[in-house]
Amino acid sequence: MKNHAAPKNCKRGSRQRRLILDTVRSGALGHPTAAEVYDAVRGKMPNISLGTVYRNLGSLASDGEISRLDLGDLSRFDCDTSEHSHFACKKCGAIFDVRICPSARRGLLSSLRGGFSADSASVLFSGYCPKCSKKLQPNTKENRL
Ligand SMILES: [Zn+2]
Ligand SMILES: [Zn+2]
Repeated sequence: MKNHAAPKNCKRGSRQRRLILDTVRSGALGHPTAAEVYDAVRGKMPNISLGTVYRNLGSLASDGEISRLDLGDLSRFDCDTSEHSHFACKKCGAIFDVRICPSARRGLLSSLRGGFSADSASVLFSGYCPKCSKKLQPNTKENRL
């Protein structure tokens, strides 16, 4: 075992980075956590470690290739780097994209007082998604009609 294992495995490193980026960009996972990305890439690259996935997600996020979302206790990653807001379902944990309309956005920004200059504004909605709201109300119209 060498202590000075020079990181000459650039090729392998960039292949991992590519795969992780493609996985997040595919959109199939929605807004995945690092563990979900890890599960997905492991199928194609069995030797990849969770640490490597974390590291690559972090560097992809700081390079602006993907966005990192801090939604409560877990960091999630988003292939959509444009400004948008999210809805987090308290029941199933699903995350949905929400576009804030321009007038509401202006309203958000106008709540800043005292010399702040914001270049982005996003909101985190929390509650129940359509599927879960339905389940919460067993006596819906559907049942009665
Ligand atoms: Zn839900
Ligand atoms: Zn999003």
